[in-house]
Amino acid sequence: MAKKQFKAESRRILDLMIDSIYTHKEIFLRELISNASDAIDKLYFLSLTDDKVGKGRDDFEIRISLDKDKRLFTISDNGIGMTRDELDANLGTIAKSGTLAFKTEHDTGDAVDIIGQFGVGFYSSFMVSDNVKVLSRAYGSEEAWLWESAGRDGYTISAAEKEDCGTVITLEIKENTEDEQYDRFLNQHTVSSLVKQYSDYIRYPIRMQTQHTRAKKGDPGDTETVTEDETLNSMIPLWKKAKSEIKEGEYNEFYKSKFHDFEDPLLTIHFSGEGVVSYDALLYIPKNPPYDFYAKEYQRGLQLYSSGVMIMEKCADLLPDYFGFVSGLVDSSDLSLNISRELLQHDRQLKTIAVTLKKRIKTELKKLMDNDREKYEAFYKSFRLPIKYGLYSDYGMNKDFLSDLVLYHSAAENKLVSLKEYVDAMKEDQKHIYYACAETVERAMKLPQTERVRDQGYDILCMTDDVDEFAVRMLGTYMEKTFKSVSDADLNLVSDEEKRAQERAHEEHKDILAALKEALSGKVKDVRLSDRLKSSPVCLTSDGPLSIEMEQVLASMPVSDGSVKAERVLEINPAHPVFGVLGTLSADDARVKKYADLLYDQALLIEGLPIEDPVAFSNAICELMV
Ligand code: ADP
Repeated sequence: MAKKQFKAESRRILDLMIDSIYTHKEIFLRELISNASDAIDKLYFLSLTDDKVGKGRDDFEIRISLDKDKRLFTISDNGIGMTRDELDANLGTIAKSGTLAFKTEHDTGDAVDIIGQFGVGFYSSFMVSDNVKVLSRAYGSEEAWLWESAGRDGYTISAAEKEDCGTVITLEIKENTEDEQYDRFLNQHTVSSLVKQYSDYIRYPIRMQTQHTRAKKGDPGDTETVTEDETLNSMIPLWKKAKSEIKEGEYNEFYKSKFHDFEDPLLTIHFSGEGVVSYDALLYIPKNPPYDFYAKEYQRGLQLYSSGVMIMEKCADLLPDYFGFVSGLVDSSDLSLNISRELLQHDRQLKTIAVTLKKRIKTELKKLMDNDREKYEAFYKSFRLPIKYGLYSDYGMNKDFLSDLVLYHSAAENKLVSLKEYVDAMKEDQKHIYYACAETVERAMKLPQTERVRDQGYDILCMTDDVDEFAVRMLGTYMEKTFKSVSDADLNLVSDEEKRAQERAHEEHKDILAALKEALSGKVKDVRLSDRLKSSPVCLTSDGPLSIEMEQVLASMPVSDGSVKAERVLEINPAHPVFGVLGTLSADDARVKKYADLLYDQALLIEGLPIEDPVAFSNAICELMV
């Protein structure tokens, strides 16, 4: 029979599995059980509306059998099964197509990493087996098919016999090696405890014939071996158990198997809601964003169950965008099993649940921030962006709700602080929350605009994310303190006396300032004497609502035509020796134009912005030096 080849991506996954140095090879078991349970779910769901299925809740089962002599591990289910085409499509190609390509492009392609990120499912069989057979008959079909593969060199599909619908997967378990005792997967005690460890909550019985030795009846001196049909799992969904009865390890295993993560979650939130609608919720916050979290295709949402039966895999209405990183499930007996997706969207009960969920998530995050800052900062590193976008989006509708959760780098403390911590530490005479935007914290701290603010003994929040300034402007105030950028035109940090002196200086130098402005026309809106600089000769600030940083962010957006511009102002430090020189020039001196360009370019460089003509800049400096 002609061998079919695996699709390129599947082949790569397979290679990784076959040569896997992954130490948790036992996960193949939970993956196969999870597939079997999904297959049964599908048929059970069908049976609710279709009498022809002819099976009730209690008729479904997953069965494991072990044959030590032939080294065979078999797992079967009486679920929905697969047609020939489905065998070909589902087992010949990796379901999450594109993921591997993405992964190897962006990462080392480490096997452990890949298994972790995508939960390779069925292919994990090849970690423990050299030969895999899948016998399946789809519900409603008369035919059964056998899929078979020994790994790398492809697979075959041939006609077969099977009495009822469902799937039987048979693994020929590898021989022991120095590093791995494959034999353990043929040992009933090991398999039974692995099922308990990883798959206890599966809602259908996982049965296995087990053998026990016991004292012989009537002859207690002798023993006999009895074979028993044993159900290995408790079948109680984890979220239905009392919190006190669940160990952290159980929560973590459940999370990893159910939501395809390799790492333990960062935070687990388990609670029940009562009132208008009662439900159980089990929510997880991952340590790291899923690989596609920032892609357009990313689907947020929670699994939705009605009395233990999953009715939706990703219910987006349960989570706001800014908490889109949360995974988990909600189970409510108040939701109808047959409710359609369209109806769900308008479901009042669902909305009620969503509101409590988001409040609860926030409370838990706040608690983490207060009680375990290190862990919160790890969370924040991964998921600060959705929260910051949450401040800003929907016209700031959620800003008050979310503003307690943000942290910024404090220049004075040199660590992340919350807005509350900033405000609590403010000096008595300080009116504003000062912030500086730049590409990095180091850059922000070095901005000349910050000199005066720091001189006053005021702390500055360094903001480095694109969304930061937009979010902060949306916030406007926090605890009645307004936000103020160190680059705002009206920083107003000077005394009345200084102000008068400045006005006089401005009057005195108005001709040269006007000449500089003229020389820079088209580039800046104005040239002014600065009241915020100490040691630097110049800096750029902006008038109006748009800062230079915001202009940069907007310009980098794909839809931008570059037409939105900040109103730039070149500020010159009147106390700087350079200004001493400028002050002696007459307005029509040829050097005015040259110096204006030089000062403007310097200001751009300090801001971290490109200069228009680097060659001219370099020549001008050389000219001065020689
Ligand atoms: P995943 O389960 O994450 O989709 P797998 O590689 O484990 O990925 O499985 C691929 C697909 O093969 C499943 O989505 C399912 O459609 C099908 N499949 C696997 N095992 C079974 C089974 N026991 N019964 C029916 N279909 C199955």
